[in-house]
Amino acid sequence: MKQEKCCNMCGKKIVEKQEDCLEVQKEWGYFSEEDRKGYRFCICENCFQELVIRFAIPVEMYEQTELI
Ligand SMILES: [Zn+2]
Repeated sequence: MKQEKCCNMCGKKIVEKQEDCLEVQKEWGYFSEEDRKGYRFCICENCFQELVIRFAIPVEMYEQTELI
């Protein structure tokens, strides 16, 4: 069964192999108030841009080096 992937922020469908998205999976550890809960979500490219401009400290950017 193939599950459709959508952006959790805007609800836009993400077409696999045509669009890239930010996928986050996090299991909070013992020292967090979210003790041992697991979370998973996707953010599309547009929402990612909107998200990062809210950061007080800009995200670190780097050039991707090609493998091979
Ligand atoms: Zn989105």
